[in-house]
Amino acid sequence: MKKRILVIEDNEQNLYLIRFLLESADYEVYSAMDSYEGVLMAKSLIPDIILLDIQLPSLDGYGVAKLIRSHDLTEKIPIIAVTSYAMPGDREKAMEAGCNGYIEKPIDPETFIETMESYFTLEKNITNPEDVK
Ligand code: MN
Repeated sequence: MKKRILVIEDNEQNLYLIRFLLESADYEVYSAMDSYEGVLMAKSLIPDIILLDIQLPSLDGYGVAKLIRSHDLTEKIPIIAVTSYAMPGDREKAMEAGCNGYIEKPIDPETFIETMESYFTLEKNITNPEDVK
């Protein structure tokens, strides 16, 4: 079964590129260009992964990550921040907000999928021992 990814991103060009890369790698892609719509979609779809832009107009990605982490249905979904912020401490801020990984913009089409999957694999490895119990 294809893995479902929710992409929360307000920039059409970035969304187009991310969707293209993910669909080429056989993922099923859902997208929201608005923060709150993204949170609602996360709850209804329960995707396997969420790719989250940090610079969003209504509520920033840190706020979105906190909302996703605060609901039982979505608290364990891996969230990977995708952000053009390159300030020291941004990675830490994303992690504190509940993100599992961090990919910097501009998106590199050569490494994007590999980087994303490295975080996802990490998450699976962490949760697998729980599944055995
Ligand atoms: Mn943005």
